[in-house]
Amino acid sequence: MAQTAKHVIFLTIDGFRPDFYLDSEWQTPNLHALMKDGAYAKGVNSVFPSMTYPSHTTIVTGVQPAKHGIFYNNIFTPDGARQEPYWQDSSIHVPTIWKAAKDKGMTVASLYWPVSANAPVDYNIPDIGALGDGVREQYSLPHGFYAEVKKEVFGGVDKIDHGKNQNIAKIAAYIIKKSKPELMTIHVFSVDGASHAVGRKGTQVQEAVSDADAAVGIIIDALKAAGIWESTVLLVGGDHGFYDVRKSISPNVWLKEAGLINDLKTGDWKAQFNTVGGSAYLYLKDPSDKATANKVKALLEAKPDSVKQYYRIISKNQLNTGGYNPNVAFALTAEHDASFGNASTGSAIKTGKGGAHGHFPDTKNIQTGLIVHGPGIRKGAVIEEMDLRDMTPIMVKLLGIPFTKVDGKIPAGLLK
Ligand SMILES: [Zn+2]
Repeated sequence: MAQTAKHVIFLTIDGFRPDFYLDSEWQTPNLHALMKDGAYAKGVNSVFPSMTYPSHTTIVTGVQPAKHGIFYNNIFTPDGARQEPYWQDSSIHVPTIWKAAKDKGMTVASLYWPVSANAPVDYNIPDIGALGDGVREQYSLPHGFYAEVKKEVFGGVDKIDHGKNQNIAKIAAYIIKKSKPELMTIHVFSVDGASHAVGRKGTQVQEAVSDADAAVGIIIDALKAAGIWESTVLLVGGDHGFYDVRKSISPNVWLKEAGLINDLKTGDWKAQFNTVGGSAYLYLKDPSDKATANKVKALLEAKPDSVKQYYRIISKNQLNTGGYNPNVAFALTAEHDASFGNASTGSAIKTGKGGAHGHFPDTKNIQTGLIVHGPGIRKGAVIEEMDLRDMTPIMVKLLGIPFTKVDGKIPAGLLK
């Protein structure tokens, strides 16, 4: 396979939306410069749930969650115990682009990428959910790299402020200068935090988007300084969009009222929803218990329109066709600015605020974006719509590395 780019860098801006570069209200000069000289998509479909970890895993594997095995950010616990994140590379059931590049002898780096601890890369600072900086430091590569970064990049700080996108870009710049990696995946996330806090718009989101754009600028400058800008394809993408939240729905309250949840701890339940932002997944104690699944469905359909407006049922068939979590009876996606809560007591419908994602990936708001720039990319190409799973075949093609068959495909007209 011919290699068209000597280096490929995939930067995800968590919660990245196409309007950040399609609408002029956002301050994104670096993104606009990349677009002008490269290609972009008007919308990129996420996966279900449109959550950070399943989405990022699809970007590096080219397949849907049913195949890669990362169904949420955190692993579902039927007994209601605290959910731990999926964070080890070994949780991913299929080959990753990191491994494929490494097998070809390439230098590979990854920064704050979900589900990447112990990934076969040369440089790594993994995203490890809420496990804390100690774990992050322990799993950084090469051994002692986290301490090296604190000293060499940030002048000996005790703690890296990774909530600032530009700081993560500075670490990327340090690696670029030091080793010119052939493949690097980078995840910055303050736009997501801001959007959860205030919704799709607001000063906080504007500041975070500007910070992400500045992070892109830092990476471009580092590539130029290292003399590899002309031989690098830079992809700036994301994992999901966002919805504003005005209502919070806790469907487990209804299941408890119906006698389907008594005590999760002792296993005295028949059905429960695992709720993740804009989606909720119905687990059955006995997966073959069709009667209970039908009972829950009937209960949801019997609610008045004033309640039903907040959710839409995603059938088992839709889940199977889309390549989503095979372990649930059906799922819900939130509508009319609702999101879901996990409580089984109190009021089922409450006022909500801020923003959420996780919704079924078939609406504009939940789409993410993509801008691509560099050798092999057709300047001026505009992709109307594509999928997150298409990212892997694009990177594979650019780097000219062998890879197993994937679900995604290279969008027509994107490459020269
Ligand atoms: Zn995210």
